[in-house]
Amino acid sequence: MMPQDTPQDIFNQLADLFSTMDKTWDQVAADNGFQCNGCEDNCCLSLFYHHTQVEKAYLWHGFKTLSPQTQAQVMAKARKYLEKTFGGTGTPSPDTGSKKIPCPLLVDGRCGLYTYRPMICRMHGLPHELHRPDGQIMKGPGCDAGGFDENTSIPFNRTPFYRQMAGIEMAFRTATGKQEKIRATIAHMLLDE
Ligand code: SF4
Repeated sequence: MMPQDTPQDIFNQLADLFSTMDKTWDQVAADNGFQCNGCEDNCCLSLFYHHTQVEKAYLWHGFKTLSPQTQAQVMAKARKYLEKTFGGTGTPSPDTGSKKIPCPLLVDGRCGLYTYRPMICRMHGLPHELHRPDGQIMKGPGCDAGGFDENTSIPFNRTPFYRQMAGIEMAFRTATGKQEKIRATIAHMLLDE
């Protein structure tokens, strides 16, 4: 029987996956002649949910490297984020879609846990596609700032990354026993809600 991966082994695998993802993103962006200069259509100002226990744990792994003062500031922002976005209801308030509420980890326009940010933060912006097991291909247009032409733009193929992430998540769940489903914003993950 093969020895089971430890959580640290799995974090290393996740870091490798993130590194490959970032390099691929840079390459596809260059192929499209796109350079992200930051804008309102920014992942850091948009409502996103994250779905893996391993990304939540990795985010926390990074969070613990912050100073106690910074941790307290981030937590205060996370509580405010949930209040503004969900108003204590558990679902986004009706006008949340038009509001740009900054992620609690956004500090002076930059991600305060850049190395540890989840997958969806790394994939935002480029036109993309996902090849589903049933043969369907799901496509996304990319951000408005990129001005991507749907006929000529080169898509970022998310498929291999989703597959590898699923394998890493499965290994993490086996190693830690954390089996419950997750659908959480960054604020939820930080506050462990
Ligand atoms: S975790 Fe970082 S990259 Fe992701 S939305 Fe928050 S500030 Fe932006």
